[in-house]
Amino acid sequence: MQKTDIKSMTEEELSVMLTDMGQPKFRAGQIFKWLHSGISDFDSMTDIPVSLREALDRSCYIADVKIVRKLKSRTDDTVKYVYELYDGEYIESVLMKYVHGYTVCISTQVGCRMGCSFCASGINGLSRNLTASEMLAQITAAERDNNIRVSNVVMMGMGEPLDNFDNTVRFLRLVSCDKGINIGLRHISLSTSGVVSGIEKLKEYNFPITLSVSLHAPFDDIRSSLMKVNRRWNIEQLLNACREYQKITTRRISFEYALIEGVNDTSRCARRLAEILKGLMCHVNLIPANPVKENSFQKPDKNKILLFKQQLEALGVNATVRRTLGADIDASCGQLRRKLKEGNM
Ligand code: SAH
Ligand code: SF4
Repeated sequence: MQKTDIKSMTEEELSVMLTDMGQPKFRAGQIFKWLHSGISDFDSMTDIPVSLREALDRSCYIADVKIVRKLKSRTDDTVKYVYELYDGEYIESVLMKYVHGYTVCISTQVGCRMGCSFCASGINGLSRNLTASEMLAQITAAERDNNIRVSNVVMMGMGEPLDNFDNTVRFLRLVSCDKGINIGLRHISLSTSGVVSGIEKLKEYNFPITLSVSLHAPFDDIRSSLMKVNRRWNIEQLLNACREYQKITTRRISFEYALIEGVNDTSRCARRLAEILKGLMCHVNLIPANPVKENSFQKPDKNKILLFKQQLEALGVNATVRRTLGADIDASCGQLRRKLKEGNM
């Protein structure tokens, strides 16, 4: 019999299961709290009768992640983790310290099938989706390891969250539960490469999260050469979906733009970017592209990046250059897992 992933269950679902097991109503809340407190076995649930703990252990499992590598930055407090999952797969997470607290960048899939040419996560395609519990476990493992509380989450690690839609929505519901990890949705960012069908579905939930859209180019020919997803949904379709999303959620959208030397860093690109974003309440996050071993992309020099930002601002677009935390341990997302798999780490 396949065991049930109990940490991915909502309190209501738990309640139904426990009632079926003949348990009193209050047990669901008690067990739900335990599950999200960072424990990884039923024996830790000290105020639950031993017979029930044993029954749960027979039919359910508590998902967790095991730290297999940990890289600490020497220049700031960033820590990069490679976690092993129950089936031997690896994923990556990053813990960052900001003045307002700790942020964890989590993965949503093992690998990714979107195949963006600048990204290491997609090189071998998708292995599998992560469960909601495995997304939650990345946060609690970092909290446990550092004896801290995490206040913000960004879904910007490996994988495309909207390609794992149901588990992503389940994660958002669970992580923001006051009996659970209790991180408010306003403190969560979800980054997508532009899966329009997913943006359209997500808007119906009206979550007050920040939607981050990886735009990376203002012209379809450039964007399609970098991101296969643009051949399915082009820039116009993507921005229309963003406008519709904003109409419902009234939330500012963040656009990610990785600057790649000689590809998308021209003033023609800056002008066009400002033009297509007109009317959207948004912010542009400029990221100096991270060189990946498997491709030849380079980031532009500092002056060029600054010029691009200034051009956008002069045209009325709000833009920042993302501070690169943990630059010395970087190896952009997906690279550590690859190195580990290849035995180079
Ligand atoms: N799949 C989602 C979220 C994970 S990727 C997405 O694509 O948005 C998180 C961010 O890292 C995205 O904006 C992605 O475009 C960016 N990224 C990936 N590889 C990069 C690289 N080598 N340099 C700079 N940014 C990169
Ligand atoms: Fe997947 Fe995002 Fe990497 Fe593209 S950038 S391959 S969507 S993880």
